[in-house]
Amino acid sequence: MYHHVKKLMYTVSIDEPDPRFGKMLLEQFGGANGELAAAMQYSIQGLNCDDPGLKDLLMDIGTEELSHLEVIGRLARMHLKPTKKSREAADADPLIAICGGGGVSLYNSVGNAWTADYLKITGELDVDLRSNIAAEARAKIVYERLIDFCDDGGSKDALQFLMTREITHMKAFMTALAAMEKPPLVIGLIHPSPKIVDQYFNTSTGVGDQGEQDLIAPWNEGGQVERVDAPAFQDFVDPQLGTRRSEPIEGPELTSPTQEAHQPAQTDHAGDGAKRKKGREKRSS
Ligand code: MN
Ligand code: MN
Repeated sequence: MYHHVKKLMYTVSIDEPDPRFGKMLLEQFGGANGELAAAMQYSIQGLNCDDPGLKDLLMDIGTEELSHLEVIGRLARMHLKPTKKSREAADADPLIAICGGGGVSLYNSVGNAWTADYLKITGELDVDLRSNIAAEARAKIVYERLIDFCDDGGSKDALQFLMTREITHMKAFMTALAAMEKPPLVIGLIHPSPKIVDQYFNTSTGVGDQGEQDLIAPWNEGGQVERVDAPAFQDFVDPQLGTRRSEPIEGPELTSPTQEAHQPAQTDHAGDGAKRKKGREKRSS
């Protein structure tokens, strides 16, 4: 059940409206990492969640994101308002000025409509929590860039609040993921194939025009990692390397049906002509 309280989570005030900055703010209103996307992603994950503790977390943060949407929407609206009347201001965004009457709509900063394609909802709790941690990190960095491009003190205060809350959420999602006590590389139930899982394919090789070269790093050497250099060319050395197969997955034994499934009798609706033709074909064969 949702209830609207006629207050903002963070009070917004600005000194001087800046329509071009207002347009940038829309990235956090109707953009891929914006507040509506966050609100919908967490709330819908919450709807799908059977664990009462995690459901509570998802609904709490999903609902808070709706409050953020309200704050960023108010802030963007304040900056965009001059596009309502001033031709010069309207030049900042004709779509907002002419179609939207100087108000906010669910578009990103370049006028692309908000889409549910932004949402990451897999129904696998640990996988979704990872998506949420990444989403908070993206929201944080977008707020930081908005703050960097902002001269207005009041706007900066509101953005600082919203940016801070994203880190708070990130921490909560990270804590929830840790509380699930799943080893970090265990995703789902089916085990990855041994040997292949530890192979690092060095598929970018040689020396580049700017002197780029293969570098040794913890992800391609050491520990269990086996580096396979230029796997595309390994084919010529050992045909098996180019056609590696995974180990069979442990599971129920599957057998083919011993006889064909029973087919229900079908009435022949074809005309008499077709029937006669069929009969003739039968005789001639
Ligand atoms: Mn937020
Ligand atoms: Mn958040």
